[in-house]
Amino acid sequence: MSNSTAKIGTVYLVGAGPGDADLLTVRAARLVMNARVLVHDGLVDPSILAMAPRGCRMVSVAKQRSRHTMKQQDINALLVREALAGNDVIRLKGGDPFVFGRGGEEAEDCFAAGVPVQVVPGISAAMGAAAAAMIPLTHRDSASIVSFVAGQCKGLTDQNWAGLAGVGRTLVIYMGVATAEAIAEKLMADGLAPDMPVAVIENAARPEMRVVRGALAGLGAVVADNRIKSPALIIIGEVAGRGDMMELKKVAEMAA
Ligand code: SAH
Repeated sequence: MSNSTAKIGTVYLVGAGPGDADLLTVRAARLVMNARVLVHDGLVDPSILAMAPRGCRMVSVAKQRSRHTMKQQDINALLVREALAGNDVIRLKGGDPFVFGRGGEEAEDCFAAGVPVQVVPGISAAMGAAAAAMIPLTHRDSASIVSFVAGQCKGLTDQNWAGLAGVGRTLVIYMGVATAEAIAEKLMADGLAPDMPVAVIENAARPEMRVVRGALAGLGAVVADNRIKSPALIIIGEVAGRGDMMELKKVAEMAA
């Protein structure tokens, strides 16, 4: 059987940003509004899914906040199958598809099957959280290096954390809620000061956002005492301790 005459669809790996629909790129919004087949994970805000047109086939592969999770291989196979059947597929992911989004694996499997892929970048949680919590990731007086690290990964303790955090550096940890205490201990064992400021941002760029602050030695307690839940981001570094700009923002807004 030959399908040489059948049109192969394109898989669009689209970043949905950290939450609010108005943090979508214009290109992402256009693709969602014209979607015929939309495959999304659990981090994508319902307000964004609501932008899809009537008749769009929506497939949830709920990677977060759900008991039902499709295996990555099955997701890849689904994208390939839909595209080979001639459908353009909007694969909508929280944040940016190429920042801890496994977009690379999906693209590789699509290319292996001869399926074209386009990537539409999104605002990653680090940028969304920094803006919403008023924590600049770099600052001429406090940080000129930023690292993004996955806290929940194979061999957390084997990972070489030395140099990722410290004076003049900002460390942003994704997926680190469950391992926060272990990460803090590892960083202190590697020589980081126990009083290094930390901030934890839960549900950044969403109405229910919470920001809690503390010091590295108390990171585990900050997470536990506030019952921080995923999705949350941990920021470690002097930038997290540069005064509370969220307060200053409110004061300025009230005075304006
Ligand atoms: N591709 C996504 C990251 C997926 S990994 C991106 O670029 O943002 C999932 C992790 O991202 C979560 O465990 C959490 O650490 C972080 N995250 C995603 N959305 C978030 C949000 N609105 N607020 C805080 N953290 C978020």
